[in-house]
Amino acid sequence: MSNAQGVVVKVSGPLVVARGLKNARMYEMVRVGEGRLFGEIIEIRSGDCSIQVYEETEGIGPGQPVFRTEEALSVELGPGLIRSIYDGVQRPLDKLHAAFGEYIVRGAESPALDRNLIWDFVPVAKVGDQVAHGDVLGTVEESKLVNHKIMVPFGVEGQVSKIAAVTGNVDTVVATVDTAKGPVELTMVQRWPVRKPRPVARKMPPVSPITTGQRVLDMFFPLTQGGTACVPGPFGSGKTVVQHQLAKWANANIVVYVGCGERGNEMTDVLQEFPALIDPVSNEPLMERTVLIANTSNMPVAAREASVFTGITIAEYFRDMGFSVALMADSTSRWAEAMREMSGRLEEMPGEEGYPAYLSSRIASFYERAGNVICKGSDERQGTLSLIGAVSPPGGDFSEPVVQATLRVVKVFWGLDDKLAFARHFPAINWLTSYSLYQEVVDKYSNENYDPAWQANRQKAMGILQQEAELDELVRLVGMDALPMSDRLLMQAAKMIREDFLHQNAFDERDTYTSLKKQFRMLDLILSYFDLAKPALEEGVLLNSLLSLDVLEDIARAKLIDEDKLEEFDALKETLTQEIAALPR
Ligand code: ADP
Repeated sequence: MSNAQGVVVKVSGPLVVARGLKNARMYEMVRVGEGRLFGEIIEIRSGDCSIQVYEETEGIGPGQPVFRTEEALSVELGPGLIRSIYDGVQRPLDKLHAAFGEYIVRGAESPALDRNLIWDFVPVAKVGDQVAHGDVLGTVEESKLVNHKIMVPFGVEGQVSKIAAVTGNVDTVVATVDTAKGPVELTMVQRWPVRKPRPVARKMPPVSPITTGQRVLDMFFPLTQGGTACVPGPFGSGKTVVQHQLAKWANANIVVYVGCGERGNEMTDVLQEFPALIDPVSNEPLMERTVLIANTSNMPVAAREASVFTGITIAEYFRDMGFSVALMADSTSRWAEAMREMSGRLEEMPGEEGYPAYLSSRIASFYERAGNVICKGSDERQGTLSLIGAVSPPGGDFSEPVVQATLRVVKVFWGLDDKLAFARHFPAINWLTSYSLYQEVVDKYSNENYDPAWQANRQKAMGILQQEAELDELVRLVGMDALPMSDRLLMQAAKMIREDFLHQNAFDERDTYTSLKKQFRMLDLILSYFDLAKPALEEGVLLNSLLSLDVLEDIARAKLIDEDKLEEFDALKETLTQEIAALPR
């Protein structure tokens, strides 16, 4: 650390103004006061640096020293990330907790990557290989689910002159590269400034869906590998359950979960719950492919602002290995509030509802880091980073600035609805207001990979739900009995789509996950009912007979059909056809 010092001239909560930090740059990390608290320069005005401090600033006052680090806020990247629980500036919460107890001692330092962990490095590159940024030097078995690639860091290019299998902690030298500037020894760890996106070879359009096993999402509002989604919803509408379901079931190799402390002890819940979750596919703890970033509520707001960038940088690093990575941020509203607070203290001109004018661009700078990419490195591997942000607008008002700024950049909107939640319709995702701009891409993919009728069925089902909404108005005015028979049949089909397909219980072992193949069969069965019943009605079959077929109960229970017994759907369709054919005309 440099001795170039400045002095504190003003303190306002988490904001400290320092004078005399010569040549300091925006977003440089500094250490503040005798206690050497972590801080980051967020504004430089006529020589005065405004510093957001990531720790309690109590006791800091004018005259105290400020030290430069000459490094932007950065994270450590290497084996040991998986299973970690970090705070917003990548301090290992569990280790600090163990060392210092509930209240982390200010200025406490503990390396982000545990130096006591020993790894086996297995070389992939060979002596004589020409390598550059992103090329894979070797691999480390980081967890049961993650084979970590050790890559050439940014800025290093040359010929491998030494490389061998070694065992040691992340600081162990694994290879030497002869560069134009001389030999460079590479270890298993590298650093990256969090506010700067990690470079990629090129971005690709999205092609394949993220499957979540959640029927309303996969069928009607799909997210792609590398896509962006937002889940706004009022308190109690099921945001946390949705995020947990995604963390458990989404077909991603790596999950990064950024929790921005909602209510007092909510983060503590996440810290306790998450490590207990089991990955249903591998039966290993979910933490074997997870990194948690948590801001407990006793941490200052500034750390919250940084946490989202810390999380996404770690996520990008795994994407660079060629993994499919999903990052969930819960809740980005708390993140935006942290921005608002810092902006207020900087006495910036406030924008809408007191949020800074750069709220939208800051939110965009986060979501723009998602994507389906060809990674740096000569093997042209593909990686994806998908971002899902929960938003908790005050009073559930979707017109407020954070929701609106988010909607301008994300491509999928999963709108949680408190009326549905109140009616115990879960997941409480409103099928009339939600949307996915990836629909076309996913339809194409699903038509090819699951069933050629995928798109047609999806459109038909959504059409029925939309017509139901229109008819609902009418029913409210004149009553169900006044509707024509054909509309009443449609109302029945819509009810079946809602109750037998959309409604999905996250806590029922058999219902919590549905494969895409089974989702298609379930919806197809309901649509078959509608398709068969319509002509029957025209041929004079009584509506009541069509509404009280025995097979309807079986259709309602079809969600419980085992994934390996999907042929039962054929039998059900046969029964359905026969029951309708047998009705008197
Ligand atoms: P939020 O995070 O929006 O405050 P939660 O995710 O905690 O809300 O959900 C509130 C409650 O709603 C849960 O405790 C659960 O009882 C119910 N719930 C939400 N989603 C589901 C679901 N998919 N299946 C069953 N129950 C659900």
